[in-house]
Amino acid sequence: CGIFGYYNYRVSRDRRAILEYLFTGLRRLEYRGYDSAGISFDCDPVVLEKASASIVSTPVVIKSSGKVDALVKLAYEEAVKQGIDLDEVLDNHAGIAHTRWATHGVPSATNSHPQVSDAEHKFVVVHNGIITNYKALKDFLIKRGEVFISETDTEVIPKLCNYVYKSTQEKLSFNELILEVISKLEGAYGLLFKSAYFPGELVACKRGSPLLLGIKEAEALRPLQSSPMRRPNPGDSFEAFIASDASAFVEHTKQMIVLEDNDLLHLARGTYAIYNVSKDESGAAYGSVSRALSTLD
Ligand code: GLU
Repeated sequence: CGIFGYYNYRVSRDRRAILEYLFTGLRRLEYRGYDSAGISFDCDPVVLEKASASIVSTPVVIKSSGKVDALVKLAYEEAVKQGIDLDEVLDNHAGIAHTRWATHGVPSATNSHPQVSDAEHKFVVVHNGIITNYKALKDFLIKRGEVFISETDTEVIPKLCNYVYKSTQEKLSFNELILEVISKLEGAYGLLFKSAYFPGELVACKRGSPLLLGIKEAEALRPLQSSPMRRPNPGDSFEAFIASDASAFVEHTKQMIVLEDNDLLHLARGTYAIYNVSKDESGAAYGSVSRALSTLD
Protein backbone atom coordinates (compact mmCIF):
# COMPACT_ATOMS: atom_id res chain seq x y z
CA CYS A 1 0.00 0.00 0.00
CA GLY A 2 2.68 2.54 0.98
CA ILE A 3 6.38 2.45 0.09
CA PHE A 4 9.10 4.59 1.61
CA GLY A 5 12.86 4.41 1.19
CA TYR A 6 15.69 6.54 2.52
CA TYR A 7 19.17 6.67 1.01
CA ASN A 8 22.11 8.79 2.05
CA TYR A 9 25.69 9.00 0.90
CA ARG A 10 28.40 10.77 2.87
CA VAL A 11 25.78 12.50 4.97
CA SER A 12 26.61 11.61 8.55
CA ARG A 13 23.64 10.69 10.70
CA ASP A 14 23.31 8.47 13.70
CA ARG A 15 21.21 5.37 13.32
CA ARG A 16 18.48 6.74 15.57
CA ALA A 17 17.97 9.64 13.13
CA ILE A 18 17.89 7.24 10.19
CA LEU A 19 15.24 5.12 11.89
CA GLU A 20 13.21 8.26 12.61
CA TYR A 21 13.35 9.12 8.89
CA LEU A 22 11.87 5.72 8.07
CA PHE A 23 9.17 5.95 10.74
CA THR A 24 8.21 9.51 9.76
CA GLY A 25 7.90 8.42 6.15
CA LEU A 26 5.56 5.62 7.20
CA ARG A 27 3.48 7.96 9.37
CA ARG A 28 2.98 10.28 6.40
CA LEU A 29 1.59 7.31 4.47
CA GLU A 30 -0.78 6.15 7.22
CA TYR A 31 -3.73 8.12 5.83
CA ARG A 32 -3.89 5.69 2.90
CA GLY A 33 -4.96 2.90 5.26
CA TYR A 34 -2.99 -0.25 6.10
CA ASP A 35 -3.05 -3.31 8.33
CA SER A 36 0.64 -3.86 9.07
CA ALA A 37 4.05 -2.27 8.63
CA GLY A 38 7.73 -3.09 8.44
CA ILE A 39 11.24 -1.75 7.85
CA SER A 40 14.67 -2.98 6.86
CA PHE A 41 17.97 -1.25 7.51
CA ASP A 42 21.68 -2.06 7.63
CA CYS A 43 23.05 -3.68 10.72
CA ASP A 44 26.75 -3.10 10.23
CA PRO A 45 28.23 0.18 9.07
CA VAL A 46 28.06 -0.27 5.35
CA VAL A 47 31.24 -1.27 3.56
CA LEU A 48 31.13 0.56 0.25
CA GLU A 49 33.70 -1.48 -1.58
CA LYS A 50 31.76 -4.67 -1.70
CA ALA A 51 33.48 -8.00 -1.56
CA SER A 52 32.04 -10.00 -4.42
CA ALA A 53 29.84 -13.01 -3.75
CA SER A 54 29.91 -12.59 -0.02
CA ILE A 55 27.37 -11.20 2.35
CA VAL A 56 28.71 -7.88 3.49
CA SER A 57 25.94 -6.79 5.80
CA THR A 58 22.82 -8.78 6.64
CA PRO A 59 19.98 -6.26 6.69
CA VAL A 60 17.85 -6.12 9.83
CA VAL A 61 14.15 -6.74 9.11
CA ILE A 62 11.48 -5.73 11.63
CA LYS A 63 7.76 -5.98 10.98
CA SER A 64 4.45 -6.22 12.80
CA SER A 65 0.75 -6.24 12.20
CA GLY A 66 -1.14 -3.19 13.44
CA LYS A 67 -0.10 0.44 13.62
CA VAL A 68 3.20 2.15 12.89
CA ASP A 69 3.45 2.98 16.62
CA ALA A 70 3.56 -0.76 17.38
CA LEU A 71 6.35 -1.18 14.82
CA VAL A 72 8.34 1.72 16.32
CA LYS A 73 8.13 0.18 19.79
CA LEU A 74 9.16 -3.23 18.46
CA ALA A 75 12.05 -1.76 16.44
CA TYR A 76 13.62 -0.09 19.48
CA GLU A 77 13.16 -3.24 21.58
CA GLU A 78 14.75 -5.33 18.82
CA ALA A 79 17.65 -2.89 18.47
CA VAL A 80 18.44 -3.32 22.16
CA LYS A 81 18.05 -7.12 21.91
CA GLN A 82 20.29 -7.37 18.85
CA GLY A 83 22.89 -5.03 20.33
CA ILE A 84 22.49 -2.43 17.59
CA ASP A 85 24.07 0.85 18.63
CA LEU A 86 21.52 3.57 17.85
CA ASP A 87 24.06 6.33 18.46
CA GLU A 88 26.46 4.95 15.87
CA VAL A 89 27.01 7.43 13.03
CA LEU A 90 26.66 6.11 9.49
CA ASP A 91 27.88 7.93 6.40
CA ASN A 92 26.02 5.73 4.00
CA HIS A 93 22.65 4.23 4.50
CA ALA A 94 19.93 2.52 2.50
CA GLY A 95 16.71 1.71 4.35
CA ILE A 96 13.27 0.63 3.16
CA ALA A 97 9.82 0.71 4.76
CA HIS A 98 6.26 -0.37 3.96
CA THR A 99 2.67 -0.16 5.09
CA ARG A 100 0.69 -3.17 3.85
CA TRP A 101 -2.90 -3.46 2.77
CA ALA A 102 -3.26 -7.23 2.45
CA THR A 103 -4.47 -8.67 -0.85
CA HIS A 104 -3.00 -12.19 -0.55
CA GLY A 105 -2.77 -13.65 2.95
CA VAL A 106 -4.11 -12.37 6.27
CA PRO A 107 -2.63 -9.36 8.04
CA SER A 108 0.14 -10.83 10.21
CA ALA A 109 3.79 -10.20 11.03
CA THR A 110 4.89 -13.00 8.68
CA ASN A 111 2.84 -11.68 5.78
CA SER A 112 3.95 -8.07 6.37
CA HIS A 113 6.64 -6.59 4.19
CA PRO A 114 9.60 -6.56 3.78
CA GLN A 115 9.43 -10.07 2.37
CA VAL A 116 12.79 -11.83 2.36
CA SER A 117 14.66 -14.46 0.35
CA ASP A 118 15.92 -16.39 3.36
CA ALA A 119 17.10 -16.14 6.96
CA GLU A 120 20.22 -14.22 5.89
CA HIS A 121 18.06 -11.59 4.17
CA LYS A 122 20.09 -11.82 0.99
CA PHE A 123 17.27 -10.04 -0.80
CA VAL A 124 14.66 -7.92 0.92
CA VAL A 125 11.68 -6.34 -0.83
CA VAL A 126 8.63 -4.16 -0.21
CA HIS A 127 5.80 -4.30 -2.74
CA ASN A 128 2.67 -2.37 -3.61
CA GLY A 129 0.24 -4.13 -5.92
CA ILE A 130 -0.42 -7.70 -7.00
CA ILE A 131 1.72 -10.27 -8.85
CA THR A 132 -0.85 -12.13 -10.94
CA ASN A 133 1.41 -15.03 -11.99
CA TYR A 134 2.69 -15.70 -8.46
CA LYS A 135 1.27 -19.25 -8.33
CA ALA A 136 3.24 -20.44 -11.35
CA LEU A 137 6.40 -18.73 -10.07
CA LYS A 138 5.92 -20.24 -6.62
CA ASP A 139 5.60 -23.77 -8.05
CA PHE A 140 8.69 -23.21 -10.19
CA LEU A 141 10.74 -21.94 -7.22
CA ILE A 142 9.55 -24.64 -4.78
CA LYS A 143 10.73 -27.25 -7.28
CA ARG A 144 14.12 -25.58 -7.19
CA GLY A 145 14.40 -25.73 -3.44
CA GLU A 146 13.10 -22.32 -2.30
CA VAL A 147 11.11 -22.54 0.95
CA PHE A 148 8.11 -20.24 1.35
CA ILE A 149 6.92 -19.03 4.73
CA SER A 150 4.25 -16.43 3.94
CA GLU A 151 0.90 -16.52 2.14
CA THR A 152 1.67 -13.42 0.08
CA ASP A 153 2.05 -13.10 -3.67
CA THR A 154 5.05 -10.85 -2.93
CA GLU A 155 7.29 -13.58 -1.49
CA VAL A 156 8.01 -15.00 -4.97
CA ILE A 157 9.99 -11.82 -5.71
CA PRO A 158 12.84 -12.14 -3.15
CA LYS A 159 12.93 -15.89 -3.81
CA LEU A 160 13.27 -15.21 -7.53
CA CYS A 161 16.13 -12.78 -6.77
CA ASN A 162 17.92 -15.60 -4.98
CA TYR A 163 17.32 -18.00 -7.83
CA VAL A 164 18.55 -15.51 -10.46
CA TYR A 165 21.58 -14.63 -8.33
CA LYS A 166 22.56 -18.29 -8.11
CA SER A 167 21.78 -19.15 -11.73
CA THR A 168 23.74 -16.21 -13.14
CA GLN A 169 26.71 -17.19 -10.98
CA GLU A 170 26.68 -13.92 -9.08
CA LYS A 171 27.90 -11.97 -12.07
CA LEU A 172 25.19 -9.32 -12.31
CA SER A 173 25.09 -5.90 -10.71
CA PHE A 174 22.10 -5.18 -8.46
CA ASN A 175 20.15 -3.35 -11.18
CA GLU A 176 20.88 -6.04 -13.81
CA LEU A 177 19.71 -8.72 -11.43
CA ILE A 178 16.43 -6.94 -10.67
CA LEU A 179 15.90 -6.33 -14.37
CA GLU A 180 16.09 -10.09 -14.90
CA VAL A 181 13.69 -10.68 -11.99
CA ILE A 182 10.99 -8.24 -13.15
CA SER A 183 11.06 -9.67 -16.66
CA LYS A 184 9.37 -12.74 -15.10
CA LEU A 185 6.66 -10.80 -13.20
CA GLU A 186 3.10 -10.16 -14.36
CA GLY A 187 0.68 -7.80 -12.68
CA ALA A 188 1.06 -4.39 -11.09
CA TYR A 189 3.83 -3.30 -8.81
CA GLY A 190 5.85 -0.65 -7.13
CA LEU A 191 8.94 -2.40 -5.74
CA LEU A 192 11.87 -1.37 -3.59
CA PHE A 193 14.81 -3.72 -2.97
CA LYS A 194 17.71 -4.07 -0.58
CA SER A 195 20.32 -6.80 -0.57
CA ALA A 196 22.97 -8.24 1.73
CA TYR A 197 25.19 -8.55 -1.35
CA PHE A 198 24.80 -4.90 -2.33
CA PRO A 199 24.96 -2.94 0.92
CA GLY A 200 24.31 0.77 0.69
CA GLU A 201 22.44 0.34 -2.61
CA LEU A 202 18.75 0.46 -3.45
CA VAL A 203 16.84 -0.58 -6.56
CA ALA A 204 13.25 0.47 -7.26
CA CYS A 205 10.96 -0.21 -10.18
CA LYS A 206 7.34 0.22 -11.09
CA ARG A 207 4.58 -0.85 -13.40
CA GLY A 208 1.05 0.38 -12.81
CA SER A 209 1.74 1.66 -9.25
CA PRO A 210 3.16 5.13 -8.53
CA LEU A 211 6.76 5.62 -7.39
CA LEU A 212 8.63 8.90 -6.92
CA LEU A 213 12.25 9.79 -6.28
CA GLY A 214 12.89 12.79 -4.01
CA ILE A 215 16.42 14.22 -4.28
CA LYS A 216 18.32 16.34 -1.83
CA GLU A 217 21.95 17.36 -2.11
CA ALA A 218 23.84 18.54 0.93
CA GLU A 219 23.52 22.34 1.10
CA ALA A 220 27.26 22.77 1.46
CA LEU A 221 27.78 21.26 -1.98
CA ARG A 222 26.53 22.45 -5.33
CA PRO A 223 22.80 23.01 -5.26
CA LEU A 224 20.80 20.81 -7.60
CA GLN A 225 20.16 22.76 -10.78
CA SER A 226 16.88 22.69 -12.61
CA SER A 227 18.29 20.95 -15.68
CA PRO A 228 16.59 17.63 -16.23
CA MET A 229 19.98 16.15 -17.06
CA ARG A 230 21.50 17.23 -13.75
CA ARG A 231 22.68 14.26 -11.79
CA PRO A 232 24.93 14.07 -8.74
CA ASN A 233 28.41 12.88 -9.61
CA PRO A 234 29.43 9.58 -8.09
CA GLY A 235 30.88 10.33 -4.72
CA ASP A 236 28.92 13.55 -4.17
CA SER A 237 27.21 13.79 -0.85
CA PHE A 238 23.48 13.41 -1.31
CA GLU A 239 20.22 12.09 0.07
CA ALA A 240 17.32 10.50 -1.73
CA PHE A 241 13.82 9.37 -0.85
CA ILE A 242 11.72 6.85 -2.69
CA ALA A 243 8.00 6.88 -2.04
CA SER A 244 4.67 5.87 -3.46
CA ASP A 245 3.39 9.32 -2.51
CA ALA A 246 5.17 12.72 -2.34
CA SER A 247 3.61 13.51 1.04
CA ALA A 248 6.06 10.98 2.53
CA PHE A 249 9.12 13.17 1.76
CA VAL A 250 7.92 16.72 1.07
CA GLU A 251 9.24 17.87 4.47
CA HIS A 252 12.77 16.86 3.37
CA THR A 253 12.89 17.98 -0.25
CA LYS A 254 10.72 19.49 -2.96
CA GLN A 255 12.84 18.24 -5.86
CA MET A 256 11.50 15.08 -7.36
CA ILE A 257 11.37 12.79 -10.35
CA VAL A 258 8.20 10.91 -11.22
CA LEU A 259 9.14 7.42 -12.37
CA GLU A 260 7.31 6.08 -15.40
CA ASP A 261 6.04 2.57 -16.02
CA ASN A 262 8.87 0.08 -16.63
CA ASP A 263 11.45 2.46 -15.14
CA LEU A 264 14.12 0.96 -12.95
CA LEU A 265 16.02 3.18 -10.52
CA HIS A 266 19.43 2.30 -9.10
CA LEU A 267 20.93 4.26 -6.19
CA ALA A 268 24.58 3.50 -5.48
CA ARG A 269 27.81 5.28 -4.51
CA GLY A 270 26.29 8.71 -4.26
CA THR A 271 24.42 8.82 -7.53
CA TYR A 272 21.35 7.47 -9.24
CA ALA A 273 20.59 6.05 -12.65
CA ILE A 274 17.22 5.42 -14.25
CA TYR A 275 16.73 2.77 -16.92
CA ASN A 276 13.64 1.95 -18.92
CA VAL A 277 12.73 -1.50 -20.09
CA SER A 278 10.68 -1.67 -23.26
CA LYS A 279 9.53 -4.67 -25.22
CA ASP A 280 8.69 -4.89 -28.91
CA GLU A 281 8.73 -7.60 -31.61
CA SER A 282 12.51 -7.61 -31.58
CA GLY A 283 12.63 -8.39 -27.85
CA ALA A 284 13.38 -6.42 -24.72
CA ALA A 285 15.41 -3.24 -24.87
CA TYR A 286 17.01 -1.73 -21.81
CA GLY A 287 18.59 1.66 -21.75
CA SER A 288 19.34 4.54 -19.47
CA VAL A 289 16.84 7.41 -19.65
CA SER A 290 16.68 10.95 -18.40
CA ARG A 291 13.56 11.95 -16.47
CA ALA A 292 12.64 15.57 -15.79
CA LEU A 293 13.21 16.95 -12.34
CA SER A 294 10.16 18.77 -11.02
CA THR A 295 9.61 20.96 -7.99
CA LEU A 296 6.70 20.40 -5.64
CA ASP A 297 4.70 23.53 -4.78
N1 GLU B 1 -0.11 -8.03 -2.66
C1 GLU B 1 0.78 -7.71 -1.58
C2 GLU B 1 0.35 -8.40 -0.30
O1 GLU B 1 -0.77 -8.72 -0.11
C3 GLU B 1 0.96 -6.18 -1.38
C4 GLU B 1 -0.25 -5.48 -0.84
C5 GLU B 1 -0.04 -3.95 -0.76
O2 GLU B 1 -0.05 -3.27 -1.82
O3 GLU B 1 0.11 -3.44 0.37
O4 GLU B 1 1.16 -8.63 0.54
